[in-house]
Amino acid sequence: MLGALASAAGVAAAASAGYQSMSPTGQWFGKTFTGLPAGTRQLALTYDDGPNDPYTLRLLEVLARRDVRATFFLIGRYVRQRPGIVQELVKAGHAIGNHTFTHPLLIFKTKAQIRREIVDCESALTEIRPVPQLPLFRPPFGGRRPEVLRVAREVGLQPVMWTIAGYDWKAPSAEYIEEKLVRNVRGGEVVLLHDGGHKNFGADRSRTVEATANSIKRYQSEGYKFVTIPEMITQQQVSSH
Ligand SMILES: [Zn+2]
Repeated sequence: MLGALASAAGVAAAASAGYQSMSPTGQWFGKTFTGLPAGTRQLALTYDDGPNDPYTLRLLEVLARRDVRATFFLIGRYVRQRPGIVQELVKAGHAIGNHTFTHPLLIFKTKAQIRREIVDCESALTEIRPVPQLPLFRPPFGGRRPEVLRVAREVGLQPVMWTIAGYDWKAPSAEYIEEKLVRNVRGGEVVLLHDGGHKNFGADRSRTVEATANSIKRYQSEGYKFVTIPEMITQQQVSSH
């Protein structure tokens, strides 16, 4: 009986730890940035898995038209493939973050493998832009454990998660993505979207581009300001002192 209880507790703890390691807002394994307090009239759009042709550049046009700066978490091997797109991102004033070199699920990797993935992506980025004041890292699939966060910090990167997912990787339409935002925006959120696909280059992100255009229009008309992750983090640091 005791044994059964103990093992049931063990299973519950393991399941809970597994949930926490993938949950975007779980803080058990160290502080990761997940947005500003609810009600803040600001939103941060973040795009993962790029650069991607042609959707990253289409997105850039949409953002430029509305004078919005966003944050892009890039996959190192795509950066190597299309550095020109990344140069455009940098030129337009968007923030760039590290999303590993090949997008593995890091919770199943050794410390040496984790470090290699992060460092290889960082050196691809550093060839294109100067090292920023606040270098950012987002783990693929949101998968993290103490080792992942520790390595990221050792390399000098700030881990960033999200508070709202647009579920654009399975969205049948732009409206589907917009609906996810409408249902969850309270202000101060970090929104997860994708301009690329981690499985291969060229993933169709037309729905993300369209949903971005419509959502920016909607929230700007409601008085929201769109900011980058470094802008959000800087404010948080100022307000907590
Ligand atoms: Zn990703």
